[in-house]
Amino acid sequence: MDILKERILQEATVVNAGVLKLDSLLNHGVDPELTMEMGKEFARRFQGRTITKVITVESSGIPVAFATALTLGVPLVFARRKKTLLQDPDDYMERVPSFTKGIVTDLIVSRHLLDENDSVLFIDDIIANGDAAKGLLKIIEQARAKVAGIGIVLEKSFQAGGKTLRELGYEVETLVRISSLEGNSITFE
Ligand code: 5GP
Repeated sequence: MDILKERILQEATVVNAGVLKLDSLLNHGVDPELTMEMGKEFARRFQGRTITKVITVESSGIPVAFATALTLGVPLVFARRKKTLLQDPDDYMERVPSFTKGIVTDLIVSRHLLDENDSVLFIDDIIANGDAAKGLLKIIEQARAKVAGIGIVLEKSFQAGGKTLRELGYEVETLVRISSLEGNSITFE
């Protein structure tokens, strides 16, 4: 997606050879028009698949997952990362390492939001090692739901996540792939 590449070049900063800061577009701020374009692009790429719900992880996945769900005309479910007082002990839960926080966090999805009749499109903002994705896929498996596909805005293809998911047999679509952040510069694949 060329417009996204341009915006990344204008607005992202390379934190180090493994991490990109993209606060204005993905991780802190949201450009609604661009986000809707991303959602439409995911909907186009997964056209023809049976999709009953879009699923993502809070918080940075939510805007683009919302845009995708709106375009597809299906509900959105987001995995929570923090337990609340309202949480049911029966909820699906997976513990995953967090790439940016350097700690483990829980992914929690309420049982009544996902079941064996669902065929879900998993949408997320960035994939690095794929830990968040693998955790959410385990939850989808626990719910006996099907995975219609995986759409990620930005794949850092020098990290293993995207490759691992494709090797597991999932259809993974990414809008932009970055092959290197070495030398403080962004190289697209
Ligand atoms: P993974 O679980 O694939 O290792 O990391 C995925 C999550 O970590 C993404 O949802 C994203 O929020 C965060 N993340 C991974 N790499 C980066 C990065 O380079 N920059 C930012 N801002 N977040 C990242």
